[in-house]
Amino acid sequence: MQTLVTGGAGFLGSHLCERLLKDGHEVICLDNFYSGRRANIAHLRSHPNFEVIRHDIVSPILLEVDRIYSLACPASPVHYQYNPVKTIKTSVMGTINMLGLAKRVKARILLASTSEVYGDPQEHPQRETYWGHVNPIGVRSCYDEGKRVAECLMMDYHRQNNVDIRIVRIFNTYGPRMAIDDGRVVSNFCVAALRGEDLEIHGDGRQTRSFAYVDDLIDGMVRMMETEGITGPINIGNPDEFTILELASMAIEIAGTGSKLKFSPTRPDDPMRRRPDITLARKYLNWQPKTPLKVGLAATIEHFRKQLGLVPG
Ligand code: NAD
Ligand code: UDP
Repeated sequence: MQTLVTGGAGFLGSHLCERLLKDGHEVICLDNFYSGRRANIAHLRSHPNFEVIRHDIVSPILLEVDRIYSLACPASPVHYQYNPVKTIKTSVMGTINMLGLAKRVKARILLASTSEVYGDPQEHPQRETYWGHVNPIGVRSCYDEGKRVAECLMMDYHRQNNVDIRIVRIFNTYGPRMAIDDGRVVSNFCVAALRGEDLEIHGDGRQTRSFAYVDDLIDGMVRMMETEGITGPINIGNPDEFTILELASMAIEIAGTGSKLKFSPTRPDDPMRRRPDITLARKYLNWQPKTPLKVGLAATIEHFRKQLGLVPG
């Protein structure tokens, strides 16, 4: 199987490339290295079935492939808000280009969509039937609306051109290989706790997220791609819900450095509650997460301990 992974040098993409190589695929990793890093895929470079292409999906590309995992898009608010016009171009033009490719070479394509399509949700937990509560003109909309258009494009290419599609809505995922400067809450808290610095809480910290460990998430994504007769969207995430304060205490406890908290203003349009309903993933993919937050967080903290040079290795 020839498999294209766009965004393959990013956090999730690099884990996905690794998993697909293990499963015996020939993998083409395509990335423009905006938020991805060569270091994430350095250990795969010598694999005979692995290839890397530096390319920006805003421009079309022609490749002979059987599967396309469409992950290219910055995912951390810090990164996607840095150049918002580029972010929405990546989701809209990039998805059109990948769907055009899928149509032409008759490949199956999976879109890495997001819980952000639910915006600041007024239904809890979020089921796939919920249409969401998104501010169309806010600072998060380049990402949220970009992904909503990407989902729309997937469905229209499916209905109009019979393209074989899969859509997964990914909820907050964390784990080893997140960049130190990624800017998302788990990496920020792990790095600050290990350095003994204050953990910065936006708002009062009572907002919630449900955190999935990367290995669980990748397994769900691969199951979705290889399950026949479904298009999605299907939520993939861990339904255990935590406040940001709870996450901070856990990170401090595991790191064991006695860091304190500092509070700053709430970010604009910050979703207040987020938790996936994973009934569909359980039913159609026979999938559910296996890794509790405490276990996954400990593994992630070990990763950052090494990255920061705090232990040999
Ligand atoms: P990431 O920022 O680590 O990875 C994104 C990758 O895409 C990077 O390697 C980046 O360089 C590449 N990229 C960005 N724009 C590109 C372009 N125009 N052309 C080619 N490559 C480009 O983020 P991640 O956490 O690995 O997320 C991967 C995907 O999963 C994204 O589409 C994201 O929206 C989705 N997702 C992730 C999460 C999560 O919690 N990690 C949650 C929901 C959705
Ligand atoms: N957050 C925080 N401190 C940080 C980074 C994030 O308190 O250093 C909060 C943020 O306001 C949000 C939650 O943690 O409520 C998750 O933020 P993240 O950027 O990881 O992703 P989001 O789910 O908002 O896209």
